[in-house]
Amino acid sequence: MLLKDKTVVITGGAGLNGLGFATARLMAAHGARVAVLDLERADPAAAAAQLGPGHRGIVADVTDKASCDAAAAAVLEAFGRIDALVNNAGITQPARTLAISGTDYDRILDVSLRGTLYMSQAVLPAMQEQGSGSIVCISSVSAQRGGGILGGPHYSAAKAGVLGLARAMAREFGPEGIRINSIAPGLIGTDIIKGKLTEEKKAEIAETIPLARLGRAEDIAGACVFLASDLSLYCTGITLDVNGGMLIH
Ligand code: NAD
Repeated sequence: MLLKDKTVVITGGAGLNGLGFATARLMAAHGARVAVLDLERADPAAAAAQLGPGHRGIVADVTDKASCDAAAAAVLEAFGRIDALVNNAGITQPARTLAISGTDYDRILDVSLRGTLYMSQAVLPAMQEQGSGSIVCISSVSAQRGGGILGGPHYSAAKAGVLGLARAMAREFGPEGIRINSIAPGLIGTDIIKGKLTEEKKAEIAETIPLARLGRAEDIAGACVFLASDLSLYCTGITLDVNGGMLIH
């Protein structure tokens, strides 16, 4: 039980095949009280109910500051504290540089980057009051290798932005006992890649990965539990690569 009695908040956590829900499930199994945040259409209450009693599903759009603040307030009202936040909400779009419109750029950056800022801003005051907290930001191997798998350059930029934001926040809030780290997943078989890669292409990619397979949502969940728990008490500002060796650098 690595997270016994801790309260964790996971954005974009309602997709049952996604990284966020796998993380919610593993954190709940480790004793955490989980608040699953997601868009209304993703039905976060239904996802939270699947975790068992005592968890919460809250409708929240991470691109909307008021929505993030209201979600954090609802978690505090329900559980009294926030020990960890996983900034997981993100969307992607395959596109080449010359085809990226202003609307595409805003849409992709708003969820991953603006959302990470707004949701962190929403929970940080409670963590400051507690004198402790852990924020985990989900970036991507795409930020490190310059895309080339699925998302376009604007997705790589959003996820690289997440790394910079997380490192800067880690420096700022470290003295207050708040740790902020990133995870850079490789290619994970979730809904985000559904219909975007053929089975043939997936097999081709797997052949280039030292561990010889695509990642599973549970692979990322394990890394999130590590970073949210006291096992990682001396880690802040790090980027944890969880990519099967796809990028060894
Ligand atoms: P997913 O599509 O299953 O999950 C994304 C979740 O974010 C969904 O539940 C969606 O409803 C939610 N969401 C979208 N916009 C939102 C908003 N404005 N506010 C709140 N929630 C919102 O995909 P996933 O693969 O589980 O992705 C989770 C994270 O991991 C994303 O940030 C993604 O970019 C990142 N990632 C995924 C992979 C991969 O290969 N699957 C690789 C690297 C990084």
